[in-house]
Amino acid sequence: MISRRGFLTFPLSASSLAQTPLIYDVLLKNGHLLDFKNKRNGRFDVALVKGKVALVANNLPTAHAKLVLDLGDYYVTPGLIDIHTHFDAGGADLNLQPDHHALPNGVTTAVDAGSSGYRNFEAFKSRTIDRSRTRILAWLNIVGAGMYGPDVENDVAQMDVADCAAMMKKYSDLIVGVKTAHFQPPTWDAVDRAVEAAKLASKPAMVDFTPKPERPYPDLILKHLRPGDIHTHFYGRSTPLLDENKKIAPYALAARKRGVLFDVGHGAGSFLFRNAVPAIQQGFLPDTISTDIHKRSIMLPRANMTTTMSKLLNIGLSMDQVVERSTVNAASAIHRPDLGHLSEGAVADVAVLEIQKGKFGFVDSGLNRLNGDRSIRCVLTLRAGRVVWDADGLSQVDWQNAGPYTNYR
Ligand SMILES: [Zn+2]
Repeated sequence: MISRRGFLTFPLSASSLAQTPLIYDVLLKNGHLLDFKNKRNGRFDVALVKGKVALVANNLPTAHAKLVLDLGDYYVTPGLIDIHTHFDAGGADLNLQPDHHALPNGVTTAVDAGSSGYRNFEAFKSRTIDRSRTRILAWLNIVGAGMYGPDVENDVAQMDVADCAAMMKKYSDLIVGVKTAHFQPPTWDAVDRAVEAAKLASKPAMVDFTPKPERPYPDLILKHLRPGDIHTHFYGRSTPLLDENKKIAPYALAARKRGVLFDVGHGAGSFLFRNAVPAIQQGFLPDTISTDIHKRSIMLPRANMTTTMSKLLNIGLSMDQVVERSTVNAASAIHRPDLGHLSEGAVADVAVLEIQKGKFGFVDSGLNRLNGDRSIRCVLTLRAGRVVWDADGLSQVDWQNAGPYTNYR
């Protein structure tokens, strides 16, 4: 049952207002809440006021809310956090517009992974961060010009540690850390400079890495990365995660033990079922789920957030494990403890998800298919308490009860 009170469509009379003060802007009723930071996993009502979570409890009265959504058929989760995206309203060719690709998939916080560097971050900020309804954060590319092709990305002279750290400090609320990617010369320059800049700004580094004989993968995760630094694309083609017997390599287990984080970063070439399935069967799960969404990866592999989560669900992660890695774990990886949970007082970024049951097929970055029987769909997204995605019109009035056209907002 959906009811709406207090808007122009259904103004309350003065006498009813006096009887039932409207203290909640939105009341999310009866959903299955998955909020792992607060150890809440079950039926709760969540009341939102002025863009924040006001109260999480059972049996909150509907009479006190302007908008009541009965979410008994759905999961209610903190707004999803995708820590590896390529969202830029302009810039490099593969980037996408954020809001159209984030919010319909429940993503309220998206971290652009190095599209810009210290030379062009401010242009990226004004054309994208400042104009998006999605909260856009950024990994700053160690390359000054960002992801503008091999000419700049392979040029060590473009990787200025001090300038990179200075830009991170200037925008420490927006820049979560440093990114290095696509570096082809057989040296450690890009990784080491990214980690050095991250260290100067007290932030983590995210690394896209192709091993070479001169820079083997075990050295990356055992020596060059620090605890809290992130290897993204770790189920990818170029990561030797499994040994010749398809067993998790001992160095991967040792790196996890020392605190290096492993992020999915699906993308167009970096998530292969032939790596992910045996690794997950042996218990080597991702620390965070992210998409590496861009113009190519959203097409055949469908590397959006809910589809990526669905792939992991069908491989064998539980819904709890999938949501934990897309909310509170992601917030922790980017050092944003204010996000990824629905504590009272937290920003009211919310995703409402359902698990559809049926026959589904999923395609990886190698264009191989995995058959599945469940698919996660985002039904509703709220960003700072406002409904910004509503696949089934749950927050809207049935047209037959909507009254005259003059009621339209
Ligand atoms: Zn990427």
